[in-house]
Amino acid sequence: MKNLKIITLALLLLLSTCATVFAETVVFNWKTLKFHKPSCQWAHRCTVNCTKVDKKEAIRHGGVPCKVCGG
Ligand SMILES: [Zn+2]
Repeated sequence: MKNLKIITLALLLLLSTCATVFAETVVFNWKTLKFHKPSCQWAHRCTVNCTKVDKKEAIRHGGVPCKVCGG
């Protein structure tokens, strides 16, 4: 039974590692509700209304992908 606990812990660790890898950070403009890839020229120009958030979080707040970089 002790082994089962270790396997469960290892699986949980693996899952959380995967989630970190797949989580995509975008630059989200809270005023226009558009999000950009951090490398996008518009992301660099947006300094006042933008913050870096998880892509899922941006979508959850009604964000739409930028037409230039595709989010
Ligand atoms: Zn963009």
